[in-house]
Amino acid sequence: MNALESAERLLGSAAAHLRTTVGEAAVDVAQIQLYDLAMSKAELVAARALIERAETSENPFIRRTTDAYCAEAIANLRQRLTWRPADFGLTTGDLAVFDDAFVQTHMSAQSLAALGRDFLAYPEGPTRALDDDKRIMRDTFRRFADQVVRPHAAAIHRDDSMIPDAIVDGLKALGCFGLCVPVRFGGSKPDEHDDSLGMVIATEELSRASLGAAGSLITRPEIVARAILEGGTAAQQARWLPMLAAGEPLCAVSVTEPGTGSDVASVTLRATRVDGGWRLNGGKTWCTFAGKAGVILVLARTDPDARPPHRGLSLFLVEKPSTDAQAFEHSADGGTLTGRAIPTIGYRGMHSFEMFYDDVFVPNANLIGERAGEGKGFYFTMRGFSGGRLQTAARATGVMQAAIDSAVAYAKTRTVFDRPVAAFPLTLAKFARMGMYVTACRNLAYEVARSMDRGGGQVEASLAKLLACRLAEWVCREAMQIHGGLGYAEESDVSRYYVDARVLSIFEGAEETLALRVIGKSLLETA
Ligand SMILES: Cc1cc2nc3c(=O)[nH]c(=O)nc-3n(C[C@H](O)[C@H](O)[C@H](O)COP(=O)(O)OP(=O)(O)OC[C@H]3O[C@@H](n4cnc5c(N)ncnc54)[C@H](O)[C@@H]3O)c2cc1C
Repeated sequence: MNALESAERLLGSAAAHLRTTVGEAAVDVAQIQLYDLAMSKAELVAARALIERAETSENPFIRRTTDAYCAEAIANLRQRLTWRPADFGLTTGDLAVFDDAFVQTHMSAQSLAALGRDFLAYPEGPTRALDDDKRIMRDTFRRFADQVVRPHAAAIHRDDSMIPDAIVDGLKALGCFGLCVPVRFGGSKPDEHDDSLGMVIATEELSRASLGAAGSLITRPEIVARAILEGGTAAQQARWLPMLAAGEPLCAVSVTEPGTGSDVASVTLRATRVDGGWRLNGGKTWCTFAGKAGVILVLARTDPDARPPHRGLSLFLVEKPSTDAQAFEHSADGGTLTGRAIPTIGYRGMHSFEMFYDDVFVPNANLIGERAGEGKGFYFTMRGFSGGRLQTAARATGVMQAAIDSAVAYAKTRTVFDRPVAAFPLTLAKFARMGMYVTACRNLAYEVARSMDRGGGQVEASLAKLLACRLAEWVCREAMQIHGGLGYAEESDVSRYYVDARVLSIFEGAEETLALRVIGKSLLETA
């Protein structure tokens, strides 16, 4: 499509201008421009992925959705560049390459209302053909989400309670925790390559019922298993991966500290070598599921003098008893680990803990990679994070879909001014945009999953995460709006989706960090 090609070219030349005039320092000094380009990059990549899909489909619904999404992505870039063309080395004349006629055709009020009617009839959008294997997987997780997760979801949120055993045990029985573990270690992932698509499909279905009580359960084993596969010794892989696949023990990941979050290289929790192992001292925070977990993957500083500082970090597996309590203290081998759940507005069910390590002993065998893994913790963590980011894009897609389902059902039955809410053109335009966003995000997550399985997709996983998490907020906001006052009631599911969606852009790589330091950096490198 020519309209998209022109937009892609203009984005490329804007990035090239930043590279030539500012260089790598743009990540810090040209943040306003780079952030805008990163957002547009995510939108254009999603648009390109939709076009590729539409070209192989006979379905007119996907064609209409693609046209509308592309038009919006192009219009957004145009607006971002129009605000400050000189900052991108462009003149107003350069902006004439934008195909305004294309945008106007597909964003007209009439087009949007027609597309909204399509999504009102099919809230899941133009569905995608899956092979038998993946279809069975989707149906199995959807059934589990509807029958087992959904009935508990509202109460877990309202009472801020721990995920019940019915959900955790049911997911263990389905082999959910083994999706990220190769078959040879007792999981269900093929030995030869990743199965990111399976993970994306399961995550979306579970998140559709509840982000906190089900959709986020696979993220931790995904990160821990990837780190162990990347850096663990043969003995560590043989010991830990089968246990992770079985969900026994459950696990947590602890990177963030009170003094450092986005800047992972600055982690300070100290690990000091002692006879037979290490002693951990310091604070961590926001460690999700730390209570229920029987093992926590902890990033700690083994070498305070290392330069650059990220070379002084190592990863440890800290074992502890599992508890449903919101505060715990565990003493062993002369050390004490304490944890306290942080009250949150949403994302309830797993609890995120602030933690303190007071001389906590960890044997040598629990340092990932043992001697060879010393100083490599940062790299192993980043390896784990790329899968976590794609999974978070799938989590966002699940939450979006849940909000759309809820808004569509409500809008059809609620009558205002003698008409169903769904009959008004403004509501239809909302459904058009919600529908095209969820379709674009799902399609992009599938494409990135395939690319990761072929060994690539690292930056694309961040693009998918950035886009889906941002859009999930808007979709949930509009879904709540369509419910009127009821949407603001705690008893409505849509109010839960709204507060849950808000966390997505904060964790697994905060929006700004991803936009500037991952996507922005890559834009500069490839410009
Ligand atoms: C519910 C919840 C669960 C979590 N679970 C876990 C978990 O299980 N394990 C874990 O380790 N962590 C977890 N986290 C922590 C999460 O990963 C961090 O909150 C996140 O990395 C951001 O770090 P921070 O909170 O320290 O924010 P900061 O790093 O202090 O950032 C503050 C703000 O500055 C922005 N910013 C950062 N860098 C730049 C820059 N260069 N330029 C401009 N702006 C910038 C950030 O995007 C953010 O908006 C969780 C957080 C939450 C809220």
